[in-house]
Amino acid sequence: YHTLRLILGDQLNAHHSWYKSKDDGVLYLIAELKQETDYVVHHVQKVCAFFAAMQGFAHALRQAGHQVLHLTLDDSQVYQDLPDLLTQLCQQHSISQLQFQRPDEYRLRQQLLNLQIDKVDIGEWDCEHFLVPFCELGDYFAPNKHVLMEGFYRKLRKRFNLLMEDDGKPLGGKWNYDAQNRNKFKPADLANIPAPLLFDNPIEEILARLKRHQINTIGEVAEHLPWPINRKQSLALLDYFCQHCLPNFGQFQDAMTAHSPHQWSLYHSRLSFALNAKILHPMQVIQAAISAFEQRPEHISLAQVEGFVRQILGWREYVRGVYWANMPHYSELNSLDAQRALPAFYWHGNTKMNCMGHAIKQSLETSYAHHIQRLMITGNFALLTGIHPDAMDEWYLGIYIDAIEWVEMPNTRGMSQFADGGIIATKPYAASGNYINKMSDYCKGCHYQVKQRDGEYACPFNSLYWQFMIKHRERLANNPRIGMVYRNWDKQTPEQQQSILAQAQDYLANIEDL
Ligand code: FAD
Ligand code: SF4
Repeated sequence: YHTLRLILGDQLNAHHSWYKSKDDGVLYLIAELKQETDYVVHHVQKVCAFFAAMQGFAHALRQAGHQVLHLTLDDSQVYQDLPDLLTQLCQQHSISQLQFQRPDEYRLRQQLLNLQIDKVDIGEWDCEHFLVPFCELGDYFAPNKHVLMEGFYRKLRKRFNLLMEDDGKPLGGKWNYDAQNRNKFKPADLANIPAPLLFDNPIEEILARLKRHQINTIGEVAEHLPWPINRKQSLALLDYFCQHCLPNFGQFQDAMTAHSPHQWSLYHSRLSFALNAKILHPMQVIQAAISAFEQRPEHISLAQVEGFVRQILGWREYVRGVYWANMPHYSELNSLDAQRALPAFYWHGNTKMNCMGHAIKQSLETSYAHHIQRLMITGNFALLTGIHPDAMDEWYLGIYIDAIEWVEMPNTRGMSQFADGGIIATKPYAASGNYINKMSDYCKGCHYQVKQRDGEYACPFNSLYWQFMIKHRERLANNPRIGMVYRNWDKQTPEQQQSILAQAQDYLANIEDL
């Protein structure tokens, strides 16, 4: 072989230009690596999904006539890490060119950019996945600068001519239909929630490998993996979403319930793994949704499809831009000086707070939670109680099937924990029990009383919300979107204020017992 081409586990893009021609002198390398299973403790389904998808991709490439070296943990255990593996393979096969696709994770990219191998030319290629080319990110983002997602999203709508009228105006006259979305489930809605499309990928061998190599994981796993691990399954999931979930996607995007067998999946696409492993291209997903809307306008309203397109064209591309503009210092930001350790119930879900119990147990069972569970339940609780953002990053990066640092970190450290001081969010996503009660039916079955702010059964989110707002008053009071909150607080009697804050202190002192 003259060339070695590295394919990372999240680079399973079959349409990459690498594969357009065949060359027996090119060896493709796909390797399970301990350095990747161990940098945080991952959910067992996440490791299995990546390993199974990598194995399938290696097989498909081989079928297409390419030369492929697929290494399992058994094969790769003799190498210290990725640079060691690449160096040894280059020497062993007298390789003159080593090529890799630009990793989306800063850590891995540094590792590869720092690599030097005697007599080997090392070259970086684009991953050909994102809609905004890497070299153009600087046109939209700058270090430490807040860029409004909505403005970025509108630019991309125009740039790619998606959901646009001919005169350059947004389809339907508005850019954003959130006002029509974001409903709570009524009891009558619950019976209509579609069952999720699940797959039954065998993972016995992978599980045995994880055991053999003592890979530490969290979460639960059945004999079969329900996540899509190849193009066929990913396209089937996309199709299923467009048929059954898209018609109600926006409407119930923020809703949560404990009273449906499909409470974990609802109307969400669960395409994030297929997208982040690059099995699906974002434009393909967007186009599929738009064409479903065009074909069945009587079933799928503009508000539903626009809400979905915004998540992928807007949020997904946006967090990537924020990540690259601000790394590596982004990973150290802690603007609210949050120092508390992560409570143990994040690892088992046994808490009297019904909302937290549901979100955490579901995450451990499925390696999945939808956006509002991540942002307004587990993220909100950590924000209010001041959990260290490193601990939060570690938890989110480990537990979710779709967690890769470029997308996990801006969402966690930025959007959810406000540790970036407002690079992403204009204000912290802090909420009391009232919001959770508005968007879910969790509170009815809870040990705590959502209306109470102090006393034995007071919902912890209430007093913790107020102590958070008071603690950070100086920083937040000038924000026009928050001023009203402080005016409400100031209307309370000093006794009421004292009692709420004392309740919060009591909860914080006994956080493990909540
Ligand atoms: P849907 O609700 O069906 O949305 C469709 C797609 O839009 C998703 O698949 C995803 O690709 C994209 N999307 C939606 N919201 C976002 C967002 N805020 N940022 C980027 N893409 C978005 N998403 C990840 O992919 N990986 C993560 O590690 C991750 N960590 C998160 C951590 C926190 C604290 C929060 C608040 C959000 C995080 N998200 C992450 C964003 C979002 O919650 C998930 O993308 C979404 O829940 C995935 O489920 P889905 O595919 O069913 O999404
Ligand atoms: Fe969560 Fe409070 Fe509602 Fe219980 S009462 S489910 S703790 S918001």
